[in-house]
Amino acid sequence: MPEKLCSTKRLLIKGIVATCLLSITRVGFAAQVQLLATRIWPASTYTRITLESSLKLAYKRFFLTNPDRLVIDIENINLNPILKNLPSQLINHDPYIKTLRVAQYNPQTVRIVVGLKQKVKPNIFTLSPVGSFKNRLVIDLYPANPKEGDDPLLALLEKYNTGNLPEKTAANPPKKRTDKIVVMLDPGHGGEDPGAIGYKKTREKDIVLQIARRVRNLLNRESQIKVYMTRNEDVFIPLKVRVAKARAQHADLFISIHADAFQNRSVNGSSVFSLSTSGASSSAASYLAQTQNEADDIGGVSRSGDKYLDHTILDLVQKTTLSNGVLLGTSILNRMKGVNKMHKPTIEKAGFAVLKAPDIPSVLVETAFISNPSEERKLKTAAFQNSVANAIVNGIKDYIKKRKS
Ligand SMILES: [Zn+2]
Repeated sequence: MPEKLCSTKRLLIKGIVATCLLSITRVGFAAQVQLLATRIWPASTYTRITLESSLKLAYKRFFLTNPDRLVIDIENINLNPILKNLPSQLINHDPYIKTLRVAQYNPQTVRIVVGLKQKVKPNIFTLSPVGSFKNRLVIDLYPANPKEGDDPLLALLEKYNTGNLPEKTAANPPKKRTDKIVVMLDPGHGGEDPGAIGYKKTREKDIVLQIARRVRNLLNRESQIKVYMTRNEDVFIPLKVRVAKARAQHADLFISIHADAFQNRSVNGSSVFSLSTSGASSSAASYLAQTQNEADDIGGVSRSGDKYLDHTILDLVQKTTLSNGVLLGTSILNRMKGVNKMHKPTIEKAGFAVLKAPDIPSVLVETAFISNPSEERKLKTAAFQNSVANAIVNGIKDYIKKRKS
């Protein structure tokens, strides 16, 4: 190998050493970086392409026109069957990608050409290994000309990605004149972040979206309630953006819907959590909050967005919000008792990032344990999903009657 040659030459001529080292790096790197997996997450909000690799990938990007294409050159990598297979994952109704081509452009470079259905604003970034994920290169395609609508999600995501999401949520913009109680439903996880996975491979992100849609349908029948969802498709939304969306739409209540998991498959039951400013009510609650707060690492947020993870806005949390959160959680928990065995008889408290809106009573409902085979089976049925949805809706109605303002 030229390594020995290099070390000898290093003593002699600096310039040659540099060249020699460079060539070693190149050859060594190309041989070492392995593409391990590719995924495409198409959604109307944005489409994500994920390339998972053994080492961090280096890339360049540029646009071509007529037709519109985004080109991503990945350096120091060889085309392998996994990467070659990427285009086969493209689906016809992807809102952004028309075609995908992957080829070895030159000995060091693999070129990915993304044929576009509409002009996009790409957000491309790398993620360090976390959990079972290795290094990831993430290519998010946002619409360059988003349709005008009243959903603030895209605007909030753009602010988040550029590090401009208001951190200290000082004054909430004035509320539109409405007598309606605004409920924000938050189906946990989504896209690259599957949440917990059951024995039969049921994904938490799918179940909680189904349940949230059932809750929404029931709430839509209530004349005094207006309902929104943080996500209504299989897309990854960072935790802070979920909270920001609730604030932007003047939510009066925030309800995050999840399914629990534990290593011991016999553990079962439903739980309801509200935000705690003074530690978790049990070590299990603390562990759960920690794992749920990791959703951003799993789902993947770009570096500029990362800064939000370190911040706490707990100092802004008002007492009334907290006590109303407990009241809302207890109302839902009491209704859940008629649907499933409760994992804990009373409301639990923990520092979930998603519950940290300073002025919105927020709760997190763990519908059941997806890791428990019999509850996993139940979670997939329309009957159980409807019962849970009814319990949440009745809990909300009970709360509205009792709340302090
Ligand atoms: Zn979850």
